[in-house]
Amino acid sequence: MQRWQPAYIGLGSNLDDPQRQVLRAWERLAGLPETLAVLRSPLYRSRPFGPVPQPDFVNAVAGLLTRLDALALLGALQALERALGRRREGARWGPRVIDLDLLVFGRERRADGELTLPHAGIVERNFVLYPLADIAPDLDVPGLGRVSELKARLAPEGLWRIEPEE
Ligand code: ADP
Ligand code: MG
Repeated sequence: MQRWQPAYIGLGSNLDDPQRQVLRAWERLAGLPETLAVLRSPLYRSRPFGPVPQPDFVNAVAGLLTRLDALALLGALQALERALGRRREGARWGPRVIDLDLLVFGRERRADGELTLPHAGIVERNFVLYPLADIAPDLDVPGLGRVSELKARLAPEGLWRIEPEE
């Protein structure tokens, strides 16, 4: 059995009552094996980017403690996406009922076909860094730097908090 490690998950949805989908996914994270769901950021609404016209997203970030290893946690997140109704046949950047991305896993750094850590999109995505900064401003993202400093480089363009902080 592994030791307990902190992991941060990005949650996003833009289909079928996205706010409900994100809150439902947050509740289900607490049910993952060998895992404690410790912190949830406020919810944000974000304007979609990319080539596909689609509804706004609701985003949040969750902080976990887990004894799963990184690949097992990724597998558990993908199983949870399927259980919550995610279908993978859509366009890469298309609308989705739930997306669960593994943003940071302890001090791990890796980049292979299966899993990139830290998640490749972190530094340019305000809908990741703003909610991450709400729950872990002092986190040092391996190879990238402190969350509060990464956030300070990104304008909150197309991003609105839809829930008070407490
Ligand atoms: P995206 O979230 O980029 O829109 P998907 O959720 O469909 O796309 O994920 C595509 C693939 O990205 C997954 O099959 C997974 O193996 C891979 N992947 C690599 N690194 C990560 C990560 N840190 N978190 C989640 N998925 C990842
Ligand atoms: Mg994903």
